[in-house]
Amino acid sequence: MSDCPGRVMVIGAHPDDADFRAGGCAKLWKDLGFEVVFISATNGDAGHHEIGGGMLAQRRAAEAQASGDVIGIEYRLLEIHDAELVPSLEYRKLFITLIREFGPDLLFTHRPWDYHPDHRYTGQLVMDASFLVTVPNVCPLARHMDQSPVILYMEDGFQKPLPFQPDVVVDTDSALAEKGLMLHSHGSQVYEWLSRGVEVPTDTARR
Ligand SMILES: [Zn+2]
Repeated sequence: MSDCPGRVMVIGAHPDDADFRAGGCAKLWKDLGFEVVFISATNGDAGHHEIGGGMLAQRRAAEAQASGDVIGIEYRLLEIHDAELVPSLEYRKLFITLIREFGPDLLFTHRPWDYHPDHRYTGQLVMDASFLVTVPNVCPLARHMDQSPVILYMEDGFQKPLPFQPDVVVDTDSALAEKGLMLHSHGSQVYEWLSRGVEVPTDTARR
């Protein structure tokens, strides 16, 4: 048996969602010896105003792993086009297999109420997989889990149908520097797509 006290999986819809919502916690778990992985359900190939397609997906993958490298974790992007995630049977099986292969004790994802369909359906696909990961005859070639992971929602600001309720709050101030570096790794997002119309410094120090 390994000394690993637990396994934590964060499934976001896009490359940067896990970092924005759980980057600080991930650093703290990693420091405690947990095995942590970040997943982006889509490859991020649509969220930009000037570039797109394969080149953007490759850039997003490199940025995501640079972010993961800040705290020494794997950051994996699935080969699903940005803005095209649907709660299909095909993707449900993909999520079941993905979760089983890592075998998380804790699993974080979006709530299934969100303006962005990718966020919504990521949450739904995790919910759809949550019980089925324990059913041996569903996706029988990937060994079933003996029990479902504890599934927790990442914070969001949506009010309907239910506002987010923080049942568990973790103080991540001590991880703020690393979280900043993680977000800084997502240059195509934070300095381009999410800041269009804003004058962004070009030098790293000022960024
Ligand atoms: Zn997103």
